[in-house]
This record gives sequence, structure tokens and C-alpha cells, in this order.
Amino acid sequence: MAQVKVPIVRNILQANERLAAENRRRFDEAGIYVFNLMSSPGAGKTSLLERTIDHLSGRIKMAVIEGDIQTSYDAERIQQKGVQAVQINTDGGCHLDGNMIQQAMDSLDLAHVDLLIIENVGNLVCPAEFNLGEHDKVMIFSVTEGDEKPLKYPLMFQTSSVLLINKIDLLPYVDCDLSKVRDRARQLNGGQEVFEISCRTGEGLEPWFVWLEGKVRERQSRRSARA
Ligand code: MG
Ligand code: ZN
Repeated sequence: MAQVKVPIVRNILQANERLAAENRRRFDEAGIYVFNLMSSPGAGKTSLLERTIDHLSGRIKMAVIEGDIQTSYDAERIQQKGVQAVQINTDGGCHLDGNMIQQAMDSLDLAHVDLLIIENVGNLVCPAEFNLGEHDKVMIFSVTEGDEKPLKYPLMFQTSSVLLINKIDLLPYVDCDLSKVRDRARQLNGGQEVFEISCRTGEGLEPWFVWLEGKVRERQSRRSARA
């Protein structure tokens, strides 16, 4: 019976790839830049979104899809910023998939959106395996998690275009060697953009904002080139 398990898992991932490709087509037709934000629980995903929205609002139109196992606290936090947000409750599920994103998109008005942010369920394992149609995967790692995390969860580091190392204001109080994190991440993914930040103090966020705005403008210019 055990050998049945592998083909089933493969079918799920293949079906997901098809849905992710459909999502990507819709994003590209609309000229929307999309990133999939992943991390462990409590690493600071929603705090990063709040900072990012505060910085970019007025210049870039944003929408957010929030994934959580239960509750709608995070979507409510985002809506308080005046940004469209839809909550997906996975009801126990430990990652978002392409189908959930397709359904969430139908309850957003994406006609005038430039940037769509998908906040995945807090989990360092399967979110890295399920593409959603995003242009980039972005991961947040908190220094409170310890410097061995890249060794334990390599796929997350390998698939993320961006690594945000958060809570650097706490470095004096935790056992985390930042140079080890950087070296281990570089060995797994040499092309990764790395930003060292504190969502609490705001330190180091400016280069992230610049990188992100560059990505959004690049998408917009492709849209206007077609129009
Ligand atoms: Mg959150
Ligand atoms: Zn999962």
C-alpha cells in the first residue's frame, strides 16, 4: 500500500502547477506584480506588510491575500490600512495552493492593482513546494529562530528570490550568528537578494522598498508597452 502514496502526491503537485500557470497568466495580463511571502509563524510577515503598505501607499495600488489556518486578524490589520484584503482560512491546511488563490482573486477587484501580496501560512516546509503563480517567493527569517534554519529547511531558502532577515534589533539578545545565516543561505541560493531588517525599528527597510518598487514598475512598463 505504501507505494500508492508517491503517485498521489505527484498528481497533487502537477494539478497545482496547472492552476499556478493559469494564475500567472491572469497576473501578467493585468500587469500585476505578485510575490508569495513565506516564513515560520511569528517571523513578522504581517508586520512587514504593514510597513510596506505604509511606505508604498499613494504611489502603488496594492491588494493582499492573507492565508491563515484560522481567524481573520491579519486581513483585518491590513484592511485598517485602507488596502483590499481577502482572508483564506485553510481550516487546518498548512499551505496555500493555486486553487485557493484562484478563488480569492474572484473576491478582489484587481483591475487597478499594481502589486498583489500573498501572505502564506506560517510554515517553512510545504509552502515552498506549492507554486501559486507568483513572480517571486520572498521569505522572512527571524534571528530568534537560530542560525541552523537554512540547514534544516533548505528548499525554502533555495526557492526564495529574496531573504529578509528580520528582528536584527534583537541580535544582542539571541544566539544567532548572522554571518552563518548569510553563508548558509548563499550556499543554497547564490542569486538570492538578502536584506537585513527590523520591522519594529524600521532599520534596513529602505533597500527592500526600492527593490520591490523596481519590480512593480518593471511589470507596469510591460503592461504599457503592450497597450
Ligand atoms: Mg500573519
Ligand atoms: Zn502544507
